Amino acid sequence: MRNRIILHYGELTLKGCNRHSFVKKLRTNVRRKVQSLGLTWDVVSIHDRMFIEIPSDFEGDIDAVAKKLSEVPGVAWLSKVFWFSNKDYNWFEYKPDLTKVEELIEKLGHETYSEGKSFAIRVKRSDKKFYQTSKELEMQLATIILKNTEWKNVNLSNADQYFYVDISSRGMAVHTNRIKAIGGLPVAATGKIMCLLSGGFDSPVAAYLMAKRGCTVDFVHFTANTIQANKIEDYKVSKIAKRISEFAGRVRLYLIPYTHFDLALMDQNLDYDLILFRRFMARVATKMAEEKYIQALVTGDNLGQVASQTMENMVSMTKSIDMPVLRPLLTYNKEEIVALSRQLGLFDLCVEPYKDCCALISNTPKTKSVHEKLEEMEAKYFPDYHELINATLEDKQVIAYQFGQKIDYV
Ligand code: ATP
Ligand code: MG
Repeated sequence: MRNRIILHYGELTLKGCNRHSFVKKLRTNVRRKVQSLGLTWDVVSIHDRMFIEIPSDFEGDIDAVAKKLSEVPGVAWLSKVFWFSNKDYNWFEYKPDLTKVEELIEKLGHETYSEGKSFAIRVKRSDKKFYQTSKELEMQLATIILKNTEWKNVNLSNADQYFYVDISSRGMAVHTNRIKAIGGLPVAATGKIMCLLSGGFDSPVAAYLMAKRGCTVDFVHFTANTIQANKIEDYKVSKIAKRISEFAGRVRLYLIPYTHFDLALMDQNLDYDLILFRRFMARVATKMAEEKYIQALVTGDNLGQVASQTMENMVSMTKSIDMPVLRPLLTYNKEEIVALSRQLGLFDLCVEPYKDCCALISNTPKTKSVHEKLEEMEAKYFPDYHELINATLEDKQVIAYQFGQKIDYV
């Protein structure tokens, strides 16, 4: 049985003086993720990696656990390893007894054999006091596989199957696969954002990308629906927030009623109603963000994707507030966004029919707008804008998740 999971954090090793705090955050996040799976395993960080000891009586699905851990931002890749402790085997004596490692490599050789494919052994010594060079040990173990199993072809540069042996001062790890994880930086390491979440495909992907770069994520969603308190969890947008929390850890979703704005519009049939609503959303979100010490807004805007997403309209929205608006998907093609959505397990949630309040407003939005003109309109049609924002916020609802589980957090 593989008795340890090792997690590697590629980019973190570059972070100089901040490295310690980045690693600490990653460890907290990995630990919370483990807890969210109902497990009480400890997470230990050593020089350039972390590991988790798997209890010998664990009967669950270790592949499923590894898959979940690969979703934690900051983990570049991980492996399920067989661990030989230096305490038990003393690899650093003059000629250690490698019998157990050789037996394991032979067993793995049998298990992984595939006709016509090639293999290679990769030895890495992070402690050079080991008595052999990496090349020598690679040769020794490759000979065992060639002699005792059906493997015939060695390919050192591009093998179909690798057998990895990593030697450190604490022990030796043997494994046969590297599971690619999402990489990036640990959540809470780089800043806090408030994402304007719609029921569509784009904004959830935008939120994921920010979490991947280490941001703490909260959401605001404007809705024309009345949602009963005991039905919030079933609401489409809550399900999307829940799924993103599996990557982003702790997230809050604020559900904000659209009614007050709708009433203030009073069927005036303004040509610029959609862009006026965008500015309203930005202002409400900014107010929420400021209260929560959040530094920037994030949208799923994509340049030119729909009529409302012109450069002019995005500028008009940005100018309506003092807070920066980040648009991580600005330059993506639609198929790239949809592919990511599928890959992240968001597609099936986002594809569910949903009438976003933007769709209730205008089917033919103006493509060009000017901030100063919109300001004049706002002064005319919404004389008490502050009151409008306050009344709207008074009716907000909130739900929070942490790694896919509902939590109390406001
Ligand atoms: P999405 O796929 O995210 O819905 P979209 O292509 O449908 O984006 P729009 O509907 O023009 O584009 O929305 C642009 C952005 O405005 C969204 O990505 C989202 O960030 C924000 N937004 C739209 N509707 C809402 C809403 N009801 N509540 C909060 N934010 C919203
Ligand atoms: Mg939309």
